[in-house]
Amino acid sequence: MPHPLLEKLGVASDPRLGPASDAGPGRVVSDNPSAGEPIASIRLDSAADLERETAAAVESFHAWRAVPAPVRGQVVRAIGEELRRLREPLGELVALEVGKIRAEGIGEVQETIDIADFAVGLSRQLPGQVIPSERPEHRMMEQWLPLGPIGVITAFNFPNAVWGWNAMLAAICGDTVLWKPSLLAPLTAIATNAIADRVATEMGHPGVFRLVIGTDDEVGERLIADKRLPLISATGSCRMGRHVAQVVAGRLGKTLLELGGNNACIVEPDADLDLALRGIVFGAIGTAGQRCTTTRRLYLHESIAGDFTKKLVAAVESAAIGDALAEGTLVGPLITQGSVDQFESAVKVAQQQGGELLCGGTRVAGKPGNHVHPAVVRAPSFDLPIAKDETFAPLLYVFTYTDLEDAIAENNAVDQGLSSALFAGSIRASERFLNPSGAGSDCGLAYVNLGTSGAEIGGAFGGEKDTGGGRESGSDSWKAYMRRQTCTINFGTQFHFAQGISFG
Ligand code: NAD
Repeated sequence: MPHPLLEKLGVASDPRLGPASDAGPGRVVSDNPSAGEPIASIRLDSAADLERETAAAVESFHAWRAVPAPVRGQVVRAIGEELRRLREPLGELVALEVGKIRAEGIGEVQETIDIADFAVGLSRQLPGQVIPSERPEHRMMEQWLPLGPIGVITAFNFPNAVWGWNAMLAAICGDTVLWKPSLLAPLTAIATNAIADRVATEMGHPGVFRLVIGTDDEVGERLIADKRLPLISATGSCRMGRHVAQVVAGRLGKTLLELGGNNACIVEPDADLDLALRGIVFGAIGTAGQRCTTTRRLYLHESIAGDFTKKLVAAVESAAIGDALAEGTLVGPLITQGSVDQFESAVKVAQQQGGELLCGGTRVAGKPGNHVHPAVVRAPSFDLPIAKDETFAPLLYVFTYTDLEDAIAENNAVDQGLSSALFAGSIRASERFLNPSGAGSDCGLAYVNLGTSGAEIGGAFGGEKDTGGGRESGSDSWKAYMRRQTCTINFGTQFHFAQGISFG
């Protein structure tokens, strides 16, 4: 029997799906990390399937780009409406499959709805600009044109919204979308893509949204190497992004990279400490520490460090750990047993490097699934090498500082540059952190009196350095999905060369 959520979402009879017991070659099993039990098996796509889908995505692109952008926006609007209708079951499927708590699973689908709303408005703009020409009776202007079929590679931890950030914008821009999801979250991908494809097809636009579920070797590598996909948008680890960047650059394609983070939060002595505590606890243990924006390093001013750390540990220890879909759970499971091993091993290394374990750091005994006790480790000094790595789990390192400039320098002293936060009362501290000279936080996201997690879709989302430099979601991120054309028109009768060149 297919899982009831798949029935509710109308995908129970998807030809890829099979019983969990059918785990033979060419199939992948999706597990429920809360219970350590399989949910269903999924047929993997082959290289031949990818070839068929890529060729079809090119063909669909030729039809889709000819549809006026505001009409494309109406298709995206209808997809947003359908996602509103199915928000709860789809959010629950996210929670079931990747272990984020129900409220966060539903919140993730809401994020896709929000970006759909944003994209609908944008579909009536996509503004170019008119630029004065140096030549008489000439007009110069820029227009933005559809780019092509876009390859979208997604991480396991945002199995719906990362597709949404890309697909909703790409669709209004006139691009088709070929999605390769994580093999840790194929069911959410099947349901999400089916919803979008069903709506678009009913409105007369089949094939705009396509899905390939395959291994990195057989499908992933071919997808990134394919010249027919002018843009590869890839979300995941820095290791993956470095490889994708090289392969796509080798064919002179474009990449949009959203990679790992190692995010810090600084607390000044004049901060509202209750506010800070709430933001930091959510940032550190929300989604069981499996967000790219999770708070992994905390810098406390020495005058408040003792008391604040005690409150922090008490709050972390009191957070209910359990099944992602159970009422009251605040910390769901890690995605795999391998993640649990990596968590325990990082905690041990931190202790070997002089860190003091203040709470947690172990797997939850006697419970099926991949549950752990979130860990807080007090660092002996700024010198704790493991804190430079992103361990994708609820593991928070706490440092003490004297001077805000040192804390900002430490915020920046890692390879990644995604999110950063400062809690402070003084406008001076805030402005030093956001310093317009660039001497403050070096991250793509900088928050004051908010935690590192929980971006809104209206702003551009992404990070610097090893985080990859890509921007998705709001602001002018849509430009990544279009190509720019500078058009110059001579409406006079004379031929003028630019730069005043005289030629014969
Ligand atoms: P991952 O790198 O293991 O996998 C991400 C995706 O890349 C998967 O779909 C995977 O199949 C694919 N992939 C891996 N190798 C590939 C190859 N050779 N060719 C094509 N595709 C390939 O990451 P993960 O464990 O799923 O996700 C966690 C990571 O993602 C963390 O580092 C997290 O910080 C990062 N992340 C970043 C953002 C962001 O917006 N910056 C958002 C979510 C997650």
